[in-house]
Amino acid sequence: MDHFPIFLALQGRRVVVAGGGETALAKLRILRKTTARLTVIAETPDPALQAMAVQGQITLIARAFGPGDALCAALVYAATDDPDEDRRIARLARADGALVNLVDNLADSQFITPAIVDRDPVTIAIGTEGAAPVLARAIKADLEERLPSTLGVLARIGKGFRAMADALPMGRKRREFWADYYFDAGPQALAAQGQDGLATALEGLLARHLDAAPKGGRVDLVGAGPGDPELLTLKARKLLDRADVVIHDRLVPQAILELARREALIIDAGKEGFGPAMAQADICALMVEHAALGAHVVRLKGGDPAVFGRLDEEIDALTAAGLEWSVVPGITAASAAAASIGQSLTKRDRNSALRLITGHDMQGFAEQDWRGLARPGAVAAIYMGKRGARFIQGRLMMHGAAAETPVTAVENAARPEARAIATTLARLPHALAEAACTGPVILLYGLAPRMAEAALPHLTEEFA
Ligand code: SAH
Repeated sequence: MDHFPIFLALQGRRVVVAGGGETALAKLRILRKTTARLTVIAETPDPALQAMAVQGQITLIARAFGPGDALCAALVYAATDDPDEDRRIARLARADGALVNLVDNLADSQFITPAIVDRDPVTIAIGTEGAAPVLARAIKADLEERLPSTLGVLARIGKGFRAMADALPMGRKRREFWADYYFDAGPQALAAQGQDGLATALEGLLARHLDAAPKGGRVDLVGAGPGDPELLTLKARKLLDRADVVIHDRLVPQAILELARREALIIDAGKEGFGPAMAQADICALMVEHAALGAHVVRLKGGDPAVFGRLDEEIDALTAAGLEWSVVPGITAASAAAASIGQSLTKRDRNSALRLITGHDMQGFAEQDWRGLARPGAVAAIYMGKRGARFIQGRLMMHGAAAETPVTAVENAARPEARAIATTLARLPHALAEAACTGPVILLYGLAPRMAEAALPHLTEEFA
């Protein structure tokens, strides 16, 4: 982002437009929506400018822009249609300490004016840093269509009511009141009784919300999927949109956290440094604490919450605290990893069972049904298997697994940095050491990438 969007307080401030033609007039059309004091400096001003000056809408100075003309100005637009003259004006204005925009000259401008959707006081600014004006216009047109023209009125009247609404406790109750006003009761009252009826309607609405019985908090245990925001369920998105508190683990990337409501309290429960047992007790306590205060908590877990997610401990804690909860499934790493190598997790005549296993548990490296896994055609998705690769390899080979059994390690499945390392059981620890993965890794035991099968003919026979 080379340009940082802000909303500048212009009330009573001086804004200077240098130029007397159509370009200057176009700038004035937007600037006149503000409460700034507008000065136009032009040697030969268009009659429309003279008319504006007569009506007191602008101060018109009919001469060329000179030193000191931008003193005390917040903004200066160089809009003369003459690039050399614009640059001269910009130099002088900068010396006077003003921020300068040269029309149609992005490189020399210190600020740019976005496309604007105006529902004052609701204002939407759209910028593309000059990359795609067509896109900005299309987005503007889309928003203009979508946002009711009454939005500004609702916001203006609502703004005057904010102090009264503070009678509602901060957080969810207050939010629900405003949501009701903007999306339900407000538009209805405006349509039925016009602006005058709106204030009365607001009072009635506030009384209703003040009287309403408090709603209890709740916790939704939500699967965030493997990392791609597009692999979130719609339900997960909706809950993120509503949550007061989001408690997430280390696997959830920033791109997904950004979908949470802006006011939501985001707590990273995956910070390194806690002992693992300690962290789980802390997480349970945190969820209970926030929900007991009436918050809507989303406990966001990588992949599917029910797969190696310590879901039961959390549900037990919520049940013990008498809190309402639900589980929202997500796409587990095994599904994302299989998709990334074009393989299915089960296949007729190859494997009619799929094991989801962990490389290590609380006690250390985890024991499994190694004999079953060692049979030809067996497929397992091994979570948290990176560190235990040599142990897993040893156990499987001891129980008769073929050294050539394919294993594909998928790192960062469904993320931009995704990588698949196709190897065999015999070479697994070596291949992993060589790959030096730093992201989460899942091992797909018994599966080779579909694209590599041709290069491994002996596997094609056995497993295809
Ligand atoms: N509930 C999660 C698993 C949590 S256990 C799920 O359903 O996916 C954590 C392990 O999951 C990691 O050690 C890794 O083995 C695996 N994992 C999670 N996300 C992954 C990803 N994007 N790519 C590869 N492996 C992943």
